Amino acid sequence: LVSVKKKEGEKRMPISENAKAVLERRYLAKDEAGNPTETVDGLFRRVANAIAEGDRHFDPKADVVATARAFYDMMTNLDFLPNSPTLMNAGRPLGQLSACFVLPVADSMEDIFDAIKNAALIHKSGGGTGFSFSRLRPKGSTVNSTGGVASGPISFMKVFNSATEAVKQGGTRRGANMGILRVDHPDIMEFITCKNDTAEITNFNISVGITETFMEAVSANGMYDLVDPATGRVTGQLNAREVFDAIVQSAWQTGEPGIIFLDRLNRDNAVPGQGEIESTNPCGEQPLLPYESCNLGSINLVNHITRTVAGWVLDRAKLERTIRTAVHFLDNVIEVNQYPLPEIDRMTRSTRKIGLGVMGFADMLLYMGVPYNSEEGVALAAEIMDTINTIGHQESQRLAEERGAFPLFDQSIYRDGPPIRNATVTTIAPTGTLSIIAGVSSGVEPVFAYAYIRNVMDNTHLIETNQILKDKLVEAGIYSEELMRKIVEQGSLAHVEGIPEEIKRVFVCAHDVSPIWHVRMQAAFQQYTDNAVSKTVNFPNSATKAEVAEVYRLAYTLGCKGTTIYRDGSRNEQVLNIGKVN
Ligand code: UDP
Repeated sequence: LVSVKKKEGEKRMPISENAKAVLERRYLAKDEAGNPTETVDGLFRRVANAIAEGDRHFDPKADVVATARAFYDMMTNLDFLPNSPTLMNAGRPLGQLSACFVLPVADSMEDIFDAIKNAALIHKSGGGTGFSFSRLRPKGSTVNSTGGVASGPISFMKVFNSATEAVKQGGTRRGANMGILRVDHPDIMEFITCKNDTAEITNFNISVGITETFMEAVSANGMYDLVDPATGRVTGQLNAREVFDAIVQSAWQTGEPGIIFLDRLNRDNAVPGQGEIESTNPCGEQPLLPYESCNLGSINLVNHITRTVAGWVLDRAKLERTIRTAVHFLDNVIEVNQYPLPEIDRMTRSTRKIGLGVMGFADMLLYMGVPYNSEEGVALAAEIMDTINTIGHQESQRLAEERGAFPLFDQSIYRDGPPIRNATVTTIAPTGTLSIIAGVSSGVEPVFAYAYIRNVMDNTHLIETNQILKDKLVEAGIYSEELMRKIVEQGSLAHVEGIPEEIKRVFVCAHDVSPIWHVRMQAAFQQYTDNAVSKTVNFPNSATKAEVAEVYRLAYTLGCKGTTIYRDGSRNEQVLNIGKVN
């Protein structure tokens, strides 16, 4: 059913050439020869129509055309975009629309290899998978059926990794995994260092699952128990501070492992009766029960500010409209989604988790003249996310009146309140591709660099400048190629001569923002987010291990659900390089 038709010709979209190139390469439907069979406008029509069809499941007479039009407008205006698998697969035969999955890994050969097979199916469709390996018996324990010796979680992670490597060529995008091991698993020390050789286990992000007991032992400088998950027996003890230091050492050296606070994920577990949350998706923002999947979507904040005589301010009315349409959209995604496994179908429909978040937050601050690393910036973050969470929940409650609460509502933390359609509503995704399509800063991260060199052909390079900065400098009458070159060389505006202090104060990049402000910003968003927040705390190359340890402690005390750090230059394949004019 094509409800949004191509009428007045192709819509002129505010999409950049760069964004079009990304969409053409990876997102448009193609024929067998690899030629696109749709346009960018056609992609958005396909997605809008397919997702609007969900309305018919509740009302055969629903005005699907009007809904499709609202979804189409919201996407083509770049006010909101759903996660990549929805853009790629909606209205097409694969029909798999979620970005995030968690699969269980139980302690048997059959279960382990089932998980590998299921992950391959998910990767093929553009989804990412998270696993907890904490249930696997430790290395060296006996295998009852053969009398042999178990090889332990890390050796199996390598098998998962190789499988991902092998299927990645055939899929729509690189398969991504999260691997988690509890801090009280006997193989924890091997896990902490398993990616120190950066050529190993490259298809995984890894995180240590931290417990409250462990954190208490760290502050008391005490020992804590290691437990064999297969027998429940205590196999030994470790000094908590030594383990904490080992995590810090590895993270300082390579950026991994990250940490996640398991008790905190479970404090917000919306349906505790279904078991414990043991893992998140690959980038850490979406804690899920085994076999749950979640579809994400992000509001582009740059499109939700408006210019007044007093400068740029939040457009609350528009934000509220977008939040409501986005929640409707994401709930429909659950309806029309084609799940890769029957278990995932059942679990996802029974909790109906969605993850609405934001992108372009840092760009929005630039327009508003508010520094990212300021009390005002942190307060704005909290205010915006509070609005999204509150209105998002209201809309989910409104949907529940029409469509019913999620099936496990009676077992949920919401059961004494009004029915709600979705067990979780908000998540802050990294928006790696979405932010390129929308042409804004990613997720809630500060701008990484304001000017950088792009190599075009042999020995030719272009300076790419952040448009908001460029406009500002032009307005101030100080824009020049020479000035941009200095910003590229220094990697930041902070020490470039000739730029007014007021501009320097607002146009801060990731490295100008001290780690503490990074964490405070993450915590501000987390406070009003059902799920978690994707955020990397950037450190300069010169940072010490003590500084990394301080950030971990701060993340813990400020209520974050986890932390990922990255020290500049600590991994070889760094995506963006600042300060290098080749
Ligand atoms: N993801 C993935 N492979 C990728 C990028 C992302 O599996 O190459 C999954 C993963 O679960 C991640 C989630 O998609 O946590 C959201 O990532 P992001 O927001 O960057 O995706 P986008 O929708 O922008 O492509």
